Amino acid sequence: MLASKMLISTLKDVPQEAKIPSHILLLRAGMIKNEVSGVFNYLPLGLRVISKIENIIREEMDNSGALEILCSAIQPKEVWEASGRWQKYGPELIRFKDRHDREFCLGPTHEEIFTTLVKDLVKSSKSLPLNIYQIQTKYRDEVRPRFGLMRSREFIMKDAYSFDKDEQGLDNSYQNMYKTYSKIFERLHLKYKVVLADTGAIGGNASHQFMALSNVGESDIVYCDCGYAADVEKAEAYPDYYETGESKAVEEVLTENKRTIEEVSSYLNISPKRMVKTIIYYDNTNKEFVGVLVRGDREVNEVKVINKLDSTENDLRLATEQEIIDLGSVHGFCGPIGLNIKLLVDEEVTYLKQSVVGANKLNYHLNNVCYDRDYKGIVGCFRKASLNDLCPICHKPLKQERGIEVGQIFKLQTKYSLPLNCTYVNEDNKNVPMQMGCYGIGVSRTLASIIEQYHDEAGIIWPLNVAPYHCVITPVSLKDDNQVNLAKEIYEKLKKEHVEVILDDRDAKLGFKLKDWELIGIPYIITCGRDSINGMVEFKLRSKVNEKELVSKNDAIMTVLKAVEDLKNE
Ligand code: ATP
Ligand code: MG
Repeated sequence: MLASKMLISTLKDVPQEAKIPSHILLLRAGMIKNEVSGVFNYLPLGLRVISKIENIIREEMDNSGALEILCSAIQPKEVWEASGRWQKYGPELIRFKDRHDREFCLGPTHEEIFTTLVKDLVKSSKSLPLNIYQIQTKYRDEVRPRFGLMRSREFIMKDAYSFDKDEQGLDNSYQNMYKTYSKIFERLHLKYKVVLADTGAIGGNASHQFMALSNVGESDIVYCDCGYAADVEKAEAYPDYYETGESKAVEEVLTENKRTIEEVSSYLNISPKRMVKTIIYYDNTNKEFVGVLVRGDREVNEVKVINKLDSTENDLRLATEQEIIDLGSVHGFCGPIGLNIKLLVDEEVTYLKQSVVGANKLNYHLNNVCYDRDYKGIVGCFRKASLNDLCPICHKPLKQERGIEVGQIFKLQTKYSLPLNCTYVNEDNKNVPMQMGCYGIGVSRTLASIIEQYHDEAGIIWPLNVAPYHCVITPVSLKDDNQVNLAKEIYEKLKKEHVEVILDDRDAKLGFKLKDWELIGIPYIITCGRDSINGMVEFKLRSKVNEKELVSKNDAIMTVLKAVEDLKNE
């Protein structure tokens, strides 16, 4: 490819809206172009990388025995009503009507469609097990689209759905996908962890997430050397029995203008562990207020609260200050005693014999409050696991890391096959629902995650197998025939061997041109300078940009050819 024909649109400056390396570099390298918030167009270089990632995913999915199809993004309301998700999915679902007033959505995921498809197409149990997948564009009207391709409103996903006769079959399909995903992320050179996950809006009874490790990740992971690893939303937080001594009579204490845990605990000179936070939510599914109690040093795990209430993410919100007043309390001074609403009490709170809680009265807290004696509620785990909590398996302190969720797999069982009537006839001539699994990979988010793990100050450092091109050859001066001819010769030879190679024929300064290739992240950078006359070139790896070597043209060609050849054996 000639650089002059490549629509290179690199930017020198950091676009204002971009906050994380992948977003900055995707824009600066001219790989994507922003259309509106959370909606991007892929430019030639970006599309090449996307296609390569898709092909690796495709190869491994095909190897696993799965079949590729392609569905429309348009989905009729009826199937979503049948599964119960038309309501449940909330405002993230992009809905529209056609000219006949029929309602549709743009698919954020395809459980309903695949289940209906299999119901219609599979007549005999002989077709089972079956795993079908697609690589397709999804739509989610995210509350806060951000970080470029990490959380967009339109994104590319590989989604697969497995159909089995029984749970044993589902286990096998799930394991097969677990292995396939591991292979995919290894081939993509991602440093990742597989963690236990909550099933969220998709549903089902078991799930793992594949997390690319990165500080910019939006997921918190806790893990232990024994092998336990979980998303903090899912993690079983091992309780900490914090001792507070013998219970005494409840007393009211003046805590003027002290609302936060830090303010009250330092004012009373007690540990935040002796305090109890009472957070009041409104649950729109059950149309009720709920108080969630966790220890002062803990955070509420809203996912566990939602699961306990059988509510949804969209239906749970914090109560407003006015609502708190209407409930007979005051924001910053909420507590369980006298509050006439459902209480979810984290188990650690029940161990405190002398806790400090809000008095539901401006400027007052209550001391020596004791669960069971002074108030009651529904006891469970409602806090987030965190660093140094004890591992639920081996009881050693947990470690914590941040990750980007690049994939998730679920055992759905009959959550969709039952309501959508996706059944088969078993040996006893009975119609039984198929056992389903579903498996997603965020293709565009994976691309961004690779950049998060592979970049430096100069730009992106693509692994060779996903790089938009393998190699670039730049003559220092277009006026020097030796340089131009040598560059052309190497270019033609590599092209003939199917290396994806660029000849930089642009009339610009060498430094300017090389900056582009370093920003874009081409793995092999060959420069033809004054030694061209002797058939010698300057050879650089993008990953070691400061180490250049003077090598013969043949050595340069052989090194690139061998590396590209090796890709075939991956
Ligand atoms: P998240 O928790 O990050 O919102 P999710 O759990 O809702 O994601 P899934 O329904 O599991 O997402 O979708 C499968 C995969 O699609 C995710 O693992 C992720 O890689 C990708 N994905 C989901 N939402 C987005 C988005 N808004 N932008 C880009 N990729 C996304
Ligand atoms: Mg997910």
